[in-house]
Amino acid sequence: MSAIILSGKELAAQLETPQAQRVRDLQARGVSPKLVVVMAGDNPASAIYVRNKARACERLGILSDTIHLSQTVSQQELLRVIDGLNADPTVHGILIQLPLPEHLDEDAALLRVNPAKDVDGFHLYNAGRLLRGEDGMRPCTPQGIVRLLKSAGIALDGARAVVIGRSNIVGKPAALMLTQENCTVTLCHSHTRDLAQITCQADILVAAVGKPRFVTADMVKPGAAVIDVGINRVDGKVVGDVDFDAVSAVAGFITPVPGGVGPMTVSMLMENTLEAAWKASR
Ligand code: NAD
Repeated sequence: MSAIILSGKELAAQLETPQAQRVRDLQARGVSPKLVVVMAGDNPASAIYVRNKARACERLGILSDTIHLSQTVSQQELLRVIDGLNADPTVHGILIQLPLPEHLDEDAALLRVNPAKDVDGFHLYNAGRLLRGEDGMRPCTPQGIVRLLKSAGIALDGARAVVIGRSNIVGKPAALMLTQENCTVTLCHSHTRDLAQITCQADILVAAVGKPRFVTADMVKPGAAVIDVGINRVDGKVVGDVDFDAVSAVAGFITPVPGGVGPMTVSMLMENTLEAAWKASR
């Protein structure tokens, strides 16, 4: 069997047409959607992500700005910047680019963002709403995963989903969003026993571990949809958490790295920004 490739790159490109139309609809109502990214220090990976987000905004006609604070910025100054963006009615989305330099309190910064402008969906208010299955800003990566699965026509209702990784930004929200789609979800992590025995039961397997080629072919049920969230740099190349070549021979569907979940994450950030702008304009 050779798995069907779930191309996040292609789906994200297709979604740009309706997204650009939404920008024009908002502009017709006198609203210019705007996203502001706050970053601190000089993390090279963060710089690439921030540039990709700015380019996506540019393609759609969303205004974007990056506030680049120094590596030594104080917590007080960071919070002052966030307060300013919260109070600015021309700003609809605020994204705190993680990781922040170690001396800064990341949780306090995320908590300071107005939940209505929290386009990353990391604020406790939005996390709580997700837990309760209520509307709210959803974290972009899990949202992108669900969109990708749905666009491929993969049945979620009643499917067995296994998520490997329990981070607050990917694993846990992915498990909650799949639960909301009526999957039966098992959340695995570094203390899980007999991992392969569990993953082999998955109709949908999400790997968010951060270990290159962690998911091997013997961990995958034949025909399963395998979603590779990992971004790992090995010998200057970006690889995922899934052993792509071997797993594609077993799985029914698989996301490539790059070109899978990554572009969908950016695309969902655009959707969240447009949603925030639309809500602010009502
Ligand atoms: P994290 O380090 O916060 O979490 C990793 C998780 O993996 C932990 O919950 C841990 O329990 C689990 N884990 C570690 N070793 C394990 C093992 N042996 N067995 C089972 N579980 C194990 O990472 P994260 O922020 O969730 O990111 C995961 C990966 O996804 C990283 O490679 C990251 O770069 C990537 N990522 C990609 C996107 C995207 O848009 N594609 C977005 C966010 C993160």
